Amino acid sequence: MNEDKLKKLMKNFKQRNIEVEYFESLEDVKSLILDMVPIESTIGIGHSATLQKMDITNLLLERGNIVYDKELAKNREESKELKRKALTTDWYITGSNAISVDGRIVNVDHSGNRVASIIYGPDKVIIVVGKNKIADTVDDAIKRVKNVACPTNAKRAGYNPPCVALNRCVGCVGVCNILSIIEGQTDSNRIKLFIVNEECGF
Ligand code: SF4
Repeated sequence: MNEDKLKKLMKNFKQRNIEVEYFESLEDVKSLILDMVPIESTIGIGHSATLQKMDITNLLLERGNIVYDKELAKNREESKELKRKALTTDWYITGSNAISVDGRIVNVDHSGNRVASIIYGPDKVIIVVGKNKIADTVDDAIKRVKNVACPTNAKRAGYNPPCVALNRCVGCVGVCNILSIIEGQTDSNRIKLFIVNEECGF
């Protein structure tokens, strides 16, 4: 990754009270998460292809953490309950649809549980993003979310909005229900942004 760009990004996030760490591989991120998060903590997981690649839910469960991950649900009611419990955990771990060099974290959610947990509730939040999620400005990050992340996610989730065929957003309703931009934090120890020098997720 371009060193100047990374330095600028780190400086801009620091000014907004968001701590950034850079990693060469997802394996390194996984080791740090397992070291950093106490075994006695409760953990919420936001759906993310990047986290699934790390198999982080199973690793945390196996060593004794209580983990609320909607992917563990056997039905809709269980999924709702897991998402609700994840809102008040000690730690929340997730990915993001895009971040910008100018210091913003941008996400689109269908139901809003993931962005709600990032915004408020869990004491600490870890967001893991691959280098492919970095845009220059907040406007570019929104464009990435709408034209790259949303069509791919909609397809994965079994929806068929117009962007799946067109590969660009035409602004339909009912799928991308919540657009969130994290501009900063009051507590500098709350959100940790882990950037990986790999292509992760979409
Ligand atoms: S076309 Fe609809 S589903 Fe696709 S990115 Fe735009 S708002 Fe989201």
